[in-house]
Amino acid sequence: MYRIGLGYDRHRLEPLAPAGRGRPLVVAGMSLEHQRGPVSHSDGDALLHAIADAILGAIAGPDIGTLFPDDDPANEGRPSCDFVEAASSMAAERGWRLANLDAVVLLERPKLAPNRDAIRSNLLSMLGALEPESIDAICVKGKTGEGIGPVGKERLIEAHAVVLLTRR
Ligand code: MG
Repeated sequence: MYRIGLGYDRHRLEPLAPAGRGRPLVVAGMSLEHQRGPVSHSDGDALLHAIADAILGAIAGPDIGTLFPDDDPANEGRPSCDFVEAASSMAAERGWRLANLDAVVLLERPKLAPNRDAIRSNLLSMLGALEPESIDAICVKGKTGEGIGPVGKERLIEAHAVVLLTRR
């Protein structure tokens, strides 16, 4: 038996505080050097938000906004690995494990490629509750906005994720 889940997220990018409201840019827990960052109540890790929602979607659970409300002071600046770990545990408790995860991050700069393998290993450990077989079960691709639109103009980071869960 299988379940598929789809997750999507986007965060506006602004100059880093105090010049703007941007938080330091993080993708799957990796800090990326950039002069702009996400505006967010939590740490603004769009990829992790998309992944958490994909897992929760696969089990028809609540979404992350319901689990971790963005008006709750406890979630202020909260590392988003908490969301992925909570979603993974919830799915694991219901008897699911991860067959694979595929994701796309739309970000003009910086390029994701140099950090791609580090991002995949971060995800492998965050998804531990779902017992992924190996790093080969986890793929993340970076795409630019080709210089146009909100992604291309460095005003937006966007992430899409798909997970396939299988019964233990
Ligand atoms: Mg988000």
